[in-house]
Amino acid sequence: MVNQKVTKEIHAGCELTTFVKHFCLIDMMQFKPWAITAIIAIVGVQWACVSHEAGAGYSGDTTRKDTMTYKIQKTEEEWKQLLGDESYRVLRLKGTERPFTSEFETHWEAGTYVCKGCGQELFTSDTKFDAGCGWPSFYQAMDKTKVKEILDNSHGMQRVEVVCSACGGHLGHVFNDGYGQPTGLRYCINGVSLGFRKKP
Ligand SMILES: [Zn+2]
Repeated sequence: MVNQKVTKEIHAGCELTTFVKHFCLIDMMQFKPWAITAIIAIVGVQWACVSHEAGAGYSGDTTRKDTMTYKIQKTEEEWKQLLGDESYRVLRLKGTERPFTSEFETHWEAGTYVCKGCGQELFTSDTKFDAGCGWPSFYQAMDKTKVKEILDNSHGMQRVEVVCSACGGHLGHVFNDGYGQPTGLRYCINGVSLGFRKKP
């Protein structure tokens, strides 16, 4: 519901901006050919939509787009079918699960945590620690190739987002407050983005 509302507001904002920009440009360029006016208006609309999209993060889940092409590609409909509502919202729409709600937050069995989107192995249980933050936390990824780290300026903060390197699914963020941990890092990961394979 919230996402729908935000999306609606974003589009309403873009439409209004389009309208205003269009008429300002016509006023300024009344003696220029219509074709040039139209081209500039289109560029203006695109800029306005990008600006709104970036600002949308403040009122709900971010709608940042990752332009990287990942090995595993599916349509939005296929992801929805595969993941269910909550995992889809987090993995594909870069949402965040509520803290202290994940079954993996206090899960200490030996094994491997995998990406719920594609099954790629991401973290091992021996790097998991209790950060007390409400989300499953690890001090390092299984290896550097398993995750991709992307600078994230949404929600008025500068953070480093962590995504699965195979499917681009949003996993969480990495912070440098893994106090007392071998790397000093805390990979703060949404439990709904993960699956678990018990050590045989
Ligand atoms: Zn994945």
